[in-house]
Amino acid sequence: MSRELNLILLGPPGAGKGTQAARLVQDFHLPWASTGDMLRAAVAAGSDLGVKAKGFMDSGDLVPDDLIVDLIVERVNQADCADGFLLDGYPRTVPQADALGEALSGLSREVSAALLIELDDEEVIRRLSGRRVCVQSGHGYHLDFDPPKHEGVCDQDGSRLIQRDDDTEAVIRNRLNVYHSQTKPLVEYYEERGLLRRFDGSRSQTEVHDHIRAALATLRLEDTI
Ligand SMILES: [Zn+2]
Repeated sequence: MSRELNLILLGPPGAGKGTQAARLVQDFHLPWASTGDMLRAAVAAGSDLGVKAKGFMDSGDLVPDDLIVDLIVERVNQADCADGFLLDGYPRTVPQADALGEALSGLSREVSAALLIELDDEEVIRRLSGRRVCVQSGHGYHLDFDPPKHEGVCDQDGSRLIQRDDDTEAVIRNRLNVYHSQTKPLVEYYEERGLLRRFDGSRSQTEVHDHIRAALATLRLEDTI
């Protein structure tokens, strides 16, 4: 259809999606469109969609899918998304993927690829449950990858290091269960459409990045033939 790179990023927590997204944005000059940011921007701007979204958020409800899709359409119609975009945090489910596909086809566009950064559960748990932060300023450490000089003490200000509730194994396992139940069908969805590209998240960040770059370069070549 075109040389656009309209990308979706999938992967479990702790697989390095954020790092890879930041690098892709830099390399390919793609806007990084997170639905969270879009929501906040729309609410702050007081746009029609923002006002609607705020109504749901203020009453503690989830913002419905169709409103999120409208926000995405509004966002990807902006000039900076003409050559593509990197969508973060959406879709999470097959119905959302369908809704997104329909909305994009209404703009004569389509998803170019769904990038899946894979990482097995035990490694996710090792990466996330090893995190420690200091109570004073939130300085971050990792028991395996970036340990403090003295156990349980912040190098920078000497305050106590704690594990955040979100980083406990029980919470991570719960997030992983949700992730697997939602993402497995989504992975199949994009696989069936020939759009899925898999990457080994256990490799170094630089290797993963190189692999993604190579895959995207191939994708652009295929599109121009
Ligand atoms: Zn500190």
